[in-house]
Amino acid sequence: MKVNFTESYDVLVIGAGHAGCEASIAAARMGLRTALVTLNLDLIAQMSCNPAVGGIAKGHLVREIDALGGIMGELTDEVGIQFRLLNTSRGPAVWSPRAQCDKKQYRIRMRQLLEQQTNLVIKQAEVMDLVLENHGGGSKGSPSRRVRGVQLLDGRNIEARAVILTTGTFLNGLIHIGERSYPAGRSGEPASVMLGESLRGLGFRCARLKTGTPPRLDGRTIDWNRFERQSGDPEPTPFSFRTEKIDREQIDCHIAYTTEQTLKVLKESIHRSPLYSGQIEGVGPRYCPSIEDKVVQFPDKLRHQIFLEPEGLDTNEVYVNGMSTSMPIDVQVAMVASIPGLDRADMIRPGYAIEYDSVDARELRKTLETKRIDGLYLAGQINGTTGYEEAACQGLMAGINAGCSIRGQEPIVLDRSAAYIGILIDDLVTKGTDEPYRMFTSRAEFRLQLRIDNADQRLTPIGHRVGLIAEQHWNEFRRVQERRSAVKSFLEQHRPKRSDEAAGALFGKLGSAPEVASSLAQLLKRPEIGIEDVVEIVRHYTDAALTRPQWKSIETEIKYEGYLVQQLRQIQRLKHVENRRIPEGFSYAGIPGLSREVVEKMERVRPTTLGQASRIPGVTPAAISIVNVYLSLPGGRGVHA
Ligand code: FAD
Repeated sequence: MKVNFTESYDVLVIGAGHAGCEASIAAARMGLRTALVTLNLDLIAQMSCNPAVGGIAKGHLVREIDALGGIMGELTDEVGIQFRLLNTSRGPAVWSPRAQCDKKQYRIRMRQLLEQQTNLVIKQAEVMDLVLENHGGGSKGSPSRRVRGVQLLDGRNIEARAVILTTGTFLNGLIHIGERSYPAGRSGEPASVMLGESLRGLGFRCARLKTGTPPRLDGRTIDWNRFERQSGDPEPTPFSFRTEKIDREQIDCHIAYTTEQTLKVLKESIHRSPLYSGQIEGVGPRYCPSIEDKVVQFPDKLRHQIFLEPEGLDTNEVYVNGMSTSMPIDVQVAMVASIPGLDRADMIRPGYAIEYDSVDARELRKTLETKRIDGLYLAGQINGTTGYEEAACQGLMAGINAGCSIRGQEPIVLDRSAAYIGILIDDLVTKGTDEPYRMFTSRAEFRLQLRIDNADQRLTPIGHRVGLIAEQHWNEFRRVQERRSAVKSFLEQHRPKRSDEAAGALFGKLGSAPEVASSLAQLLKRPEIGIEDVVEIVRHYTDAALTRPQWKSIETEIKYEGYLVQQLRQIQRLKHVENRRIPEGFSYAGIPGLSREVVEKMERVRPTTLGQASRIPGVTPAAISIVNVYLSLPGGRGVHA
C-alpha cells in the first residue's frame, strides 16, 4: 500500500505517560528530530494511580533514571509535597526515597518541559496502525520488516526512522466496576482498540493483565483527628543528583485501618466482585492486591492498614492508598463509611479495575527494539510492567537506544550488576512475565553495589557519553568525585591523636580506650563510630565541601568495604561467562546433550549472551556449559550458515 506521509521525524514516540515522556526527551536531547503523539495533551504524565514517585526499589530506579540524565527525579523534587526516605532501619543498600507529588503540578511541569525541549514537537492524535516495509537483512538473509511510520485516525501519516510505543493500559482496555464493564484506556479516556488489534495482527504475542485503583475522597468530609498523622522527613532527600536542597513546606499523610464492619461488607458482597465472578480474566499484581483480594487471601487478618494521601496542594482530593477495588459503587460507599473518620466522607471518584493487553516482552531485544519489526521499540506498561518508575526507565532506555541506532552507535545495554534498570530489562526480555512486573530490591544479585547514593558513579558517565548530561552537570559531577576521593584518602591516611583539638568528640565516643594508631577510615569501620564523628576532623584539615548524602555515601563505602570488594570479585567472575556472546543465528538444534525443552526455549528467547541464557527458566547450568563448549568450537560450529 502506498502511503503519503505528511510529516517526517527521526524518532516518533506514541504515548505521553511516564515512559513516553522520558523516551521523547531523551531522543530530542540526543539531537534527534522527535515527535510525541498522544491521545490527550492535557493528560501528559497523568498519574493514573497514586500520586507518589519512588518507594522501595522504585526509588532506586528513579535515582538511576536521574543519573543517566532522565527527568523523573528533577520533576519529583520540584512538585513533591511530602518526602520520606524509606527502610532506614535496614542497611544502606535498601534505603529508598519516596515522594508524594502534587498530581496536577506534575502534569503541568512535564508538559512545560516537553514544550520547551528543542528538537521535540508534541501532537494530539490517536495512532491506529503502524506502517511497515520489507527489507533485506533478516536472519538467514530472509527479508525482515522495518517500521516506516504510523497512521493516525485523523487521516495524517507520520514517517519516522524509529517508533517507540508506550501505550500503557490503553490497548484493548476494559474497565470493571462491580457488574459493569466498559472499554476505556483508564478512567475518562478511550481505549486504544485499533492499535491493539493491529499489534495482534502483526503476530505479537499478547497477554491480558489487570490493575486497579482505589476510590478518591473529598478531604473536607474526612474527620482527620481520628487518624494517626504521618509526616515527611525533616530534611527531604532529593531524588535528583542535580537538586541541591528541597525546602518547600511538606504536607502530612494519615494512617487508618479497616474495621470489622469493612470486612463484613466485603465478605457479604464478594460474589459481586468482578474478580471473583469470573468477569475479569486478566492477571493482577500479586504484591499489590485489591482490598477484596486481601480479605479473601488473609481471612484471619482482622484489619488492614490504609493511608490517606492528599493528591495536591490546591485540591481536596484524597487518595485512599491500600483500598484498591473493583467492587460495585454501593459496596465501595459502604466500605469507606465503615471506617470511623470516613463515615461522612464523600467519594469523588470510585475505584475500578482495568484489564488491558500487554505484549510478551520476550518479543524484545535488550535494547527494547522488537525482534519482529526493526526500528520498533516498546516501553512501559505495554511490556507487562506496572508502576511509573518501571515505565519511565524503559522509556529512557528505548529513547537512548533508538537514538544510538539512528546515530549508528553501539546500543546501551546495562547489565545486572550495573543497575536495577538492567535487571528489569533483562528479567523482562528473558523470562517475560505472567503478572504485572514491579521492581523489588530482592531481584538484585548484588544489592550493595546498586545503592541510591552511588547511582551517579555507576551511570552518569554513560548518560554523558550519549549526550543526556549537560556539560555544566558533568563538570559538577567530576568535581564531586574528586572531592570524594580526596576525603577518602584523607580518612585512610589521617591517624588522630588525643591532643588533636578537632578529634575531641571522636575520642569522647571511643572512651578510655588506649590511643591506637588507627586511621579515621579504620575507626569508621567500628559500629559505634559514624561519619558525623569524623566530619569535623576532615573539615579542620581539608576544605572538603560535601553534602550530607555525600558524606553518608563515603561512610557506606568505608564501612562495607570488605563486602563490596568481595562482591566485585564475584561480579568479575560471573561477567566472564555472563558476557560471552551468542551469535545471532546460533543453532541449538542438534547439539548433543541439550533437551528439546532447552532448545525450544533458547530458540524462542534467542539470548544474546550466556548470562542471559542462564536466566531463562528451565535452562540448567549443565545446558549452559554445553552451549559454552559449542561456542568455543573453531569455525563457530552450531551457527546457521
Ligand atoms: P501510561 O501512563 O498508561 O500512558 C499511556 C499513554 O499512551 C497515554 O498518554 C495515552 O494517551 C497514550 N496512548 C495510548 N494509546 C494511544 C494511541 N493509540 N495513540 C496515541 N496515544 C496513545 N502502578 C503502580 O505502581 N501501582 C498501582 O497501584 C497502579 N495502579 C494502577 C491503576 C490503574 C487504574 C492504572 C490505569 C494504572 C495503575 N498503575 C499502577 C500503573 C501505572 O499507572 C502505570 O504503570 C504507568 O503509568 C504506565 O506508564 P506508561 O508510560 O507505560 O503508560
